[in-house]
Formats: sequence, C-alpha cells, structure tokens
Amino acid sequence: MDGFKDWHWQVKHSLKNVSSLGLVSTEDTLVTPYLLSLFQSKAILNQFIETNEKDEKGLKDPLYEKKFTKVKGLIHRYPDRALIVLTNKCFANCRFCFRKNNWDNYEGFSLKKAIEYLNSQTQVREVLISGGDPLTFEDKSLANIIEKIRSIKHIELIRIATRALSVLPYRISDSLIEALKPYKPIWFSIHINHPDEITDDFIEASGKIIDSGFPVVSQTVLLRGINDDAFILKELFCKLVRLRIKPYYLFGCDRAVGNERFRVKIEDALKIIGLLRNNISGLCMPFFAVDVDDGGKIILEPNRIISKKDNIYTFKNFEGRQLYYEDAKY
Ligand code: SF4
Repeated sequence: MDGFKDWHWQVKHSLKNVSSLGLVSTEDTLVTPYLLSLFQSKAILNQFIETNEKDEKGLKDPLYEKKFTKVKGLIHRYPDRALIVLTNKCFANCRFCFRKNNWDNYEGFSLKKAIEYLNSQTQVREVLISGGDPLTFEDKSLANIIEKIRSIKHIELIRIATRALSVLPYRISDSLIEALKPYKPIWFSIHINHPDEITDDFIEASGKIIDSGFPVVSQTVLLRGINDDAFILKELFCKLVRLRIKPYYLFGCDRAVGNERFRVKIEDALKIIGLLRNNISGLCMPFFAVDVDDGGKIILEPNRIISKKDNIYTFKNFEGRQLYYEDAKY
C-alpha cells in the first residue's frame, strides 16, 4: 500500500470512526491504519475500542496534576524533575488514558513560561516531555523545544514519553533521530502493554533509537482482561529486555473516568508481582506503582517480612520458605 510506512500518511488516514467495522465508536476514537492491522489481537483492540458499557465513575484528574501545574503545561510535583504536557494529541487514543480529560479540556503549553520557570528552579535536573504524544510534533518543532530546554545549565537529562512504537512505529524516522541527536542525553520512555505490540516494525523502530545512542525504558499499565496475567507480563518484559529495553514501571490503572473495567485489585496485582519476581531476573522486573491522590507514586511489593523479634527478622523467600536473618547491630 502506497505510503503505509510514512507516518504522515498514517496520521492522515487514521480512523476516527470504526462503526463500519462493527466496533463501538466514540467522538474520541482514533486509530492509525498500522494499529488497525493489529486488531486481530483482542488484547490490542480492547485497549483502543470502547465497549457499550456506560461508566461515568472515576476522577477527571486522578493524579491531581492541576494542583502541581506551575505554568501552562508544566507540572512540578517531585523536587528534581518536571513534566511538560506538550500536547493533548496522540496517534491513537487509549480508552484507559489517565489524561483523557485533556482530550477536550487541554489548557495548552507555553514554551516561554516553561523555560522561565525551569530557569528559576535550579534543583530540577530532569525534564520529562509527555502529552499526549510529543512525537505528534514535527521533527524541527520538537527539536526546537528540546534545544531550549537543553540550554538550561542545570537540566542534566531529558526524557521523551511516547506510545509511537506500539501505535505508529514509522514515526521513528531517520530525520527524527538526526533532529534529536545534538541534544543527548535523551532517554525514551515507551508505553507498551502487551507482547502482541512487539511487531517487526516495533523491533526496527526500537533498534533504530537504541543504536543511535538513546536509552529506552518501558512503562506498562496493568489492565484487567488485557495483561493481568503473570505469563503475559513475563513474555512482555523478557522480550523487551532482549530488545535492550529496560522494563521500568508497571502502573496500576489510574482512577480516571471510565477506567473501572480496566482496573485490577491491588491484592491480585501483588500476586502477579510475586509470581513474576519468582520467575524472572531483576533486570526484567519493573517497579509496580500506583498513583495515590496528590501524593505521587507509591511503589508496592509483596510483603516478604513475616515478623521481627529483637534483631531477628523472619522472611518469606520466593518459594514461600521461612528464613531467619540477623540484622546489623549498628
Ligand atoms: S498514548 Fe498515553 S496520553 Fe495518549 S491516549 Fe494513550 S495513555 Fe493517553
């Protein structure tokens, strides 16, 4: 098909209505032709297509981002990092998006104000550029923004969060790589939820990023009926590591409006984490975290401490065996 591997062609031919395919359409349905070609995988389809189930429950701003917005489009919650919500546009709209309120109510981003703010905050050493998807910007526009951020002396690291590898891997063009190269170190943080998203095109795109000297980490959302299974997650994380991508975070699905059908109980999530810990190396293992109100991320692990008496701990190991450990004296 002419132009199929051209990202502009993909954006131009993206589907905003899928009802002719017998699927539920909403006003914010958005699917690239590439993504559509993967819809034989129910685990992929169900991330992007609504059901008939009406669910109005949930929070508009589950991470309390408004509270931490310092200037238009810049969120500063943790002391040493800041987050830029560069856009509300994505290549495809995930049904469980925690920023779905931005689809209609995005207040925009001011580069001038963000740079002024970052200049005044010398403790910030890392800037995460997110959205929406920052790669919806043209190469030059994105590079111009990054150049301005990079020119701030105390900013050591820039991270770009993107879903492009899963929904439009052709976005990782040679010209994008060339445009970003002068501003290293830039880390990519990719959003991927299921091993079916790892296609030949995904592999080519991730290889191109990594071979060009940009480290890549992954973020996954734990989604009921899609990846809430230790075998599926094991496959995903091990495949990512084989591709030189470090699984970084597995997030509990945020309490955004309409997300209830995707959410997994913490108790069940910790069982999955326990099984994973017993079966894969630490390198393949992401942190499991939930975002709690305005308190930020809480990292959770199954409890391995059974008791403590004097300075002796009783632990439970990965086989469920009880073990005793004498703690340090000083
Ligand atoms: S790619 Fe990220 S920001 Fe875009 S719809 Fe999906 S979860 Fe939301």
